[in-house]
Amino acid sequence: MRILASDGMDKSAIAQLEAKGFEVVKQFYEVEDLKQKVKEFDCLVVRSATKVRVPVIDSAVEGGRLKLIIRAGVGIDNIDYEYAESKGIKVTNTPKSSSASVAELALALMFSAARFVNIAGHTMREGKWEKSAYNGIELRGKTLGIVGFGRIGQMLGNMAVALGMKVLAYDLVKVPELENENVKYVSMDEIFANSDFISLHTPGAKGSAAIVNAETIAKMKDGVIIINTSRGNTVDEAALIAALDSGKVFAAGVDVYAEEPCKNTALLSHPKVACTPHIGASTAEAQKRIGEELVEIITNFFK
Ligand code: NAD
Repeated sequence: MRILASDGMDKSAIAQLEAKGFEVVKQFYEVEDLKQKVKEFDCLVVRSATKVRVPVIDSAVEGGRLKLIIRAGVGIDNIDYEYAESKGIKVTNTPKSSSASVAELALALMFSAARFVNIAGHTMREGKWEKSAYNGIELRGKTLGIVGFGRIGQMLGNMAVALGMKVLAYDLVKVPELENENVKYVSMDEIFANSDFISLHTPGAKGSAAIVNAETIAKMKDGVIIINTSRGNTVDEAALIAALDSGKVFAAGVDVYAEEPCKNTALLSHPKVACTPHIGASTAEAQKRIGEELVEIITNFFK
């Protein structure tokens, strides 16, 4: 069985798969080349960079060999999965492995946005000493609104409570056992009205409306901090920039963008934005866990 890991794979996962007799090729191909190469593999493993759209799937079907596509991560929006499955190719992902890493990055962005860590470091590298420009706020004692209280949202909630924050959660599905004196389910409007920090953790499905837009920002507290590590389409970037400029939003922390790689220089160069290039799952631990999950999925599938 031949596996193409087009966006890389953890070394120990490769070693385990090879020990079980699989051949793993670690190589990124641009679309035109991928269309040809995909015909030579039984399994395709991608992270975010490789897009598996209809033409690639059609080529794979023509080749008659590809049976399994795995997104080594949470969302599968870079794969036309419904089309692939309609052609008999199974599509799956590794939903649990990166939750802790993404939750920790969301917390890092909360600190960075509240204390201007990114921009202060950036200006120091330019030889500046802007000590009085970065007057921040503390997290302790504040209210964090979490939209999408699933794996990542809950982990972030736990860390926030440990820091002395109150958590307001909004989710389509309520799990009453998760509520306690520091964590309460509320409506989306109550999140907007009462949160000092708002962090987004919904799936951001294709075509879904932005949760943070001009209308919802107007409902938020003055000086709110907005964090997005979910998907770029959950935030209207133009509305966010306008609200940062007006001072309605104090600062923002952003890991995911409407277009990636992001070319929105107004957002990336905004002094009140702490940005990272979609690195939520980029930790040694997450990649190791993803590798273990991949080995399990692949060996079970081809048993
Ligand atoms: P999850 O499925 O465990 O949780 C998502 C939660 O959102 C669920 O509880 C679901 O009921 C809820 N939900 C869905 N639609 C909603 C809506 N419209 N309003 C309110 N709640 C809604 O998923 P997760 O593992 O916690 O991942 C959350 C997000 O994090 C996803 O968007 C995923 O793509 C993103 N993510 C980002 C990175 C990164 O590198 N930045 C890495 C992994 C995951």
